[in-house]
Amino acid sequence: MTLRRRKTGLIVVVSGPSGVGKSTLCRAMLSDLEGLTLSVSCTTRKPRPGERDGVDYYFLDEAQFRDMIARDEFIEWAQVYDHLYGTPWKAVIQAHEAETDVLLDIDAQGARQIMARVKEAVFVFVTPPSLEALRTRLVARASDPPEEIERRLQHASEEIANFHTYHYLVRNEDLVQATKELEAIIIAERLKTSRLDKRWLVEQGLLVKTTVSCPSRSGL
Ligand code: ADP
Ligand code: 5GP
Repeated sequence: MTLRRRKTGLIVVVSGPSGVGKSTLCRAMLSDLEGLTLSVSCTTRKPRPGERDGVDYYFLDEAQFRDMIARDEFIEWAQVYDHLYGTPWKAVIQAHEAETDVLLDIDAQGARQIMARVKEAVFVFVTPPSLEALRTRLVARASDPPEEIERRLQHASEEIANFHTYHYLVRNEDLVQATKELEAIIIAERLKTSRLDKRWLVEQGLLVKTTVSCPSRSGL
């Protein structure tokens, strides 16, 4: 049997204000890094032009979403602005156990719930270079009416005030640079000795068996 180098995959929470570029950054990382997947959330909001069910989101009605809450199928869920959003447990656990790293592009309420439930997850907060730049991005995305954009900008300041509860902060000014920084975080987290399956070192002939202690699996 060939052992895996790591016991489990990473759970990487990428959070930050709406419009800061989280989904753009996550998509860029998916095409650059192997062994990475994106958790597809459920939402009660309607699809935007071009969005596909099961790819961008699972688009549900409120009754379907509430049924999933009742069956405890979400690792976290929240009302974000006027709609419900949630991350299903199933795909996250499957990826985690298969040594695949999984990205969660979620809002700050969801990140807080995962901080409380999944101690080993990695938390990255993405900031815009300025609130003006954030406004420009929300306007350019053209998916929300002006009053909704103002609401998102107000909320952004509150979210930014909690940046210190995350492990990392990435400033998304230049998309290429921000993508590199996020990828560097993932690569460094993959190499942490605490995530290594020490039996793999034995299998490689790098460690003698008697010196190995196998910590019990924690978390999920
Ligand atoms: P979020 O997922 O955080 O809500 P999006 O990924 O939808 O944000 O990005 C919002 C808008 O900002 C999109 O139109 C995207 O193309 C644009 N954008 C993302 N990153 C940058 C950047 N570094 N510079 C300029 N525009 C950006
Ligand atoms: P949008 O409607 O623009 O796609 O997303 C609005 C906000 O909801 C974004 O900040 C996005 O990160 C967040 N979001 C998307 N999926 C989830 C989820 O599963 N849980 C939580 N808590 N937030 C989510």
